[in-house]
Amino acid sequence: MEIPSLIAHIGNTPLIPLQSPNARTQIFGKAEWFNPGGSVKDRAAKFIFERALASGQLTREKILLDATSGNTGIAYAMIGAALGYRVALVMPANVSVERKKIARAYGAELIESDPLEGSDGAIVRARELARDAQKYFYADQYNNSANVHAHYTTTAPEIWEQTRGMITHFVAGVGTSGTMMGAGARLKEFNPAIQLIEVQPADELQVIEGLKHMESAIVPGIYDAQLADKQIAIETEAAYREAHRVAREEGLFVGLSAGAAIAAARQIAQEIETGIIIAILPDSGDRYLSTALWT
Ligand code: PMP
Repeated sequence: MEIPSLIAHIGNTPLIPLQSPNARTQIFGKAEWFNPGGSVKDRAAKFIFERALASGQLTREKILLDATSGNTGIAYAMIGAALGYRVALVMPANVSVERKKIARAYGAELIESDPLEGSDGAIVRARELARDAQKYFYADQYNNSANVHAHYTTTAPEIWEQTRGMITHFVAGVGTSGTMMGAGARLKEFNPAIQLIEVQPADELQVIEGLKHMESAIVPGIYDAQLADKQIAIETEAAYREAHRVAREEGLFVGLSAGAAIAAARQIAQEIETGIIIAILPDSGDRYLSTALWT
């Protein structure tokens, strides 16, 4: 009997029906916290690891290094522990304490960057460290096409099959943008009529962990602003409200960026006549227990 490894359980997450404000539309959330590392980023980390190993860029002598707002770091740390590779993560000092503790629990080394500089500060610090190419393999999720490929190969075909090709709208927040670039591109190949809706924080002061306000941030190399059909700006307050509402009214305990995606999906539902809207729900509410989200 062959039992699949931990890593083989990444992906194939469920679609969960959500309430819609328009009875002629359906909204489903893709529940990415069902991944073994607890977030959508398991997919990217798995593909990044596999490509780095296959190409020989990552060896036992080197440490996998990247900048992360937390979830990718946890995913790298989990996979690194499972495969026996060392992982070092640069995170802004103010990422939720849960994220730091989980990454440390898996044995990763944490390097904290200036909290005021956010995820961009972590990128700048990681780039400096990465100059020591003897010591580090710099995974660079913001510019690594394996991040996009993960969603092109797994997330989109799963959604296509789960909706039996009936999806009309795809909603995803953008951080590295790997989810939208990969899954969005593949969904357009399945059916060019599928509308891609990209969710960003409303401005640089609206902090939604995991998401980037592209206009004011270091733009990821993998990001193509032309891919999505529509951009929706969500205020942090609205993301909070949705996360609270789905917990109380629908029994789904989700994170802040999932709240933002649900808020955007509901907005779309009200703008269209009929349709089947799929929103990516990147992680669960557990990752934010110490933050203002639940206080
Ligand atoms: N939400 C959360 C909580 C995340 O950690 C991330 C990853 N940065 C995203 C959304 C965005 O995903 P992506 O990097 O694929 O754009």
